[in-house]
Amino acid sequence: MALTMEERDLRYIWHPCSQMKDYETLPPMVIDHGQGVWLYDIYGKRYLDIVSSWWANLLGHCNPDINAAIRDQLDRLEHVIFANFAHRPAIELAERLAEITPPKIRKFHFNDNGSSAVECALKMCFQYYLQSGKPQKKRFMCLTEGYHGETIGALSVGSMDLYAKMYQPMMMDNIHVEAPDCYRCPYGKTRETCSCECFAAAENAFREHAGETAAMIVEPLLQGSAGMRIYPPLYLKKLRMLCDRYDVRLICDEIATGFGRTGTMFACDQAEISPDILCLSKGLTGGYLPMSITCVTEEIYDAFYADYSEGKAFLHSHTYAGNPLGCAAALAVQKVLREQHILQKAGQTASWLTREMDRAFGHHPNVGEIRHIGLIHAIELVRDPETKAPLDPARRTGYAIYKKALEYGLILRPLGDVLYFNPPLNITREELTQAIEAAHRALCDILPET
Ligand SMILES: *Cc1c(COP(=O)(O)O)cnc(C)c1O
Repeated sequence: MALTMEERDLRYIWHPCSQMKDYETLPPMVIDHGQGVWLYDIYGKRYLDIVSSWWANLLGHCNPDINAAIRDQLDRLEHVIFANFAHRPAIELAERLAEITPPKIRKFHFNDNGSSAVECALKMCFQYYLQSGKPQKKRFMCLTEGYHGETIGALSVGSMDLYAKMYQPMMMDNIHVEAPDCYRCPYGKTRETCSCECFAAAENAFREHAGETAAMIVEPLLQGSAGMRIYPPLYLKKLRMLCDRYDVRLICDEIATGFGRTGTMFACDQAEISPDILCLSKGLTGGYLPMSITCVTEEIYDAFYADYSEGKAFLHSHTYAGNPLGCAAALAVQKVLREQHILQKAGQTASWLTREMDRAFGHHPNVGEIRHIGLIHAIELVRDPETKAPLDPARRTGYAIYKKALEYGLILRPLGDVLYFNPPLNITREELTQAIEAAHRALCDILPET
């Protein structure tokens, strides 16, 4: 008997971020093609991709404008070494990014995935201080529950036990600052009464460690992998000032938040701050091709600019850095964002979605909080909304809801017991209504309303 596609998959493939034994009960879904928010499997069943395929798909699958741009580029040039060489798509993309990134960002270093953009930022900050006569500044600060990727350096500025704990012996010794936790605010404040009391933790850490610290890295406004934890712009404003006061570089990892995900082009824009380094990936190519960019200020760039013999160059490279197909896709994304007024329209959709989510989920006895920023809406499920006591993690409630939602044709991949929508920015209200219905059914199947 011929093997099924699923069997052939499991014979050789080790999937990312999965316990492979789980595939015994939930085999891989073999996707044949995509169109807009929809993915179609090989049996013709369709799924609404409400998580944008790992938050990368910014403007729908097989977007005609992006497809055309890649096709066009494909017949000109697929790849060229990016040391000493350049090409039109990279040059135009850098020009475009210079227009839209925060004001102090001036230079763009191309890499090929999010984690490597973060590694690059860390190495740059270390070398920046080394070459500025401050070699003692070689440690990094980060927020607890932060996520910056899976490579060793990126993991060690993340502090989510789930991904990082086991590898502790391999990691750098970084300083982990208690992150804001707005849903379970230890100061008893609400989002309305907050004045960032929790910022004291950062102030204490800087007082003690700033002298040995090169940079602080954060996910601005939204700690995504932590369960879509949202914190106020004021925290970022204060952090920018603190970094300036203590001569510490600020790295904003906007790999997840960039390109309109939080309602503005970048999350930094809402705090009106300009980081020293900005890391971009995911939505950059619309989720088409692996590419990332580490964007830096003139000041950092200048510390590397010298005669070759001084040995100050940044000798960091990735084979696929500046890949022309990726740049062509990224340029097409920018064109669509601009010409189709995507951010404005997404903003209107977002306000509507907030009301609809509250209406559909607000009364469920296990819904602790529905939080939102831009089109991202997250529902934190709890045992008791009064006490905010979490559900028993051993029950894997989120995973059970995920499996149910798949039956209803929705790809809802919870973070623990946090369900979330993070759809392409051009999703329609009809599609969102379908997603809400399927998510609500799946939730109520697993956690009945009465
Ligand atoms: C996804 C993500 C990364 C890692 O990007 P990869 O391309 O998966 O290596 C880093 N930081 C944040 C905030 C992310 O969401």
